[in-house]
Amino acid sequence: MDTNKIILKWYDKEKRNLPWRESDKNIIDVYKVWISEIMLQQTTVSVVIPYFQRFILRFPDINILAKAKIEDVLTYWAGLGYYSRARNLHKCAKNIVENYNSIFPEKYETLINLPGIGDYTASAICAIAYNQHEVAVDVNVKRVISRINNKQNLSNIEIKKLAKKILSLERSGDFNEAIMDLGSKICKAKDPKCTICPLNKICRVFKYNKKALLNINGKNIFKKKIIKYGNCYVIGREKDNKLFFVRRPNRGLLGGMLSFPSSLWVEDKNNIPNDNILKNFILHANIKNCVHHTFSHFKLILNIYEINIDEEINIEGEWIKREDAIHQLPSLMKKVASII
Ligand code: SF4
Repeated sequence: MDTNKIILKWYDKEKRNLPWRESDKNIIDVYKVWISEIMLQQTTVSVVIPYFQRFILRFPDINILAKAKIEDVLTYWAGLGYYSRARNLHKCAKNIVENYNSIFPEKYETLINLPGIGDYTASAICAIAYNQHEVAVDVNVKRVISRINNKQNLSNIEIKKLAKKILSLERSGDFNEAIMDLGSKICKAKDPKCTICPLNKICRVFKYNKKALLNINGKNIFKKKIIKYGNCYVIGREKDNKLFFVRRPNRGLLGGMLSFPSSLWVEDKNNIPNDNILKNFILHANIKNCVHHTFSHFKLILNIYEINIDEEINIEGEWIKREDAIHQLPSLMKKVASII
């Protein structure tokens, strides 16, 4: 049996039920495909599902998303991380409404020029929503294709070329989803389930190079993350029981999100730089506790300083009641809020 037929046969029996795969009368909703693929970048399926469901309820189509305020979009993204994705999503929705009559373009070359859409998302939309002969190379696809060919350190272009050799012409979208599901359920990075894998008879790494299954692309999957340190200031105002928040700069981690003021995050815990205005607070503040948080490429330990004041602060920001701010905060800042 051809490789793609084996993969699709397995997929028809084992595919994951995911909310963005639900369709009316078998018509795939390109809007849902787009939102899900953007959310799934750097984030696992189980984390994305509740965010996706809330997001679709609030922004059920591209016109509603385009008309929404960015702060509202960020609120529904709060906790999902990589906030530039949400800002680009919003820009992209406006662009499609204004320039493409609210209809998602079908051509890869057009899609790739839209805000926040790179090769992966353009390929996923072409393949999954429009059933075109494309392959979206995510980490699962990369792992499965590398392993069945017994090759390491392949570029995305090389992975794509190899995948296209076995791609189903009639069911390109399903083929893409099938490889992603196989990578997630069977051909896992650690401890792949080769004995029950539908591809074990043709998989070259399983046949010839089992020791390569210990890692992927030569990277040590147990590599330790670096640790960064920072200070975070929870400033309360007693007269109206509000807390002081700032908006983080658009560029960088937690970009554009509501946050408690904090210092830069650095690797030297003895030299945490402090903003001059905030530095004074340390003198009067109580160290409340530490918050530990793990980002994809480093761990963060934040010292939390808590202080109550009644004067104005000379920093751009806003006073908000805790209960009104909490749902707008990214996960790290929710953790900070939870200990005060
Ligand atoms: S046989 Fe093992 S390594 Fe090969 S594709 Fe299947 S799970 Fe992955």
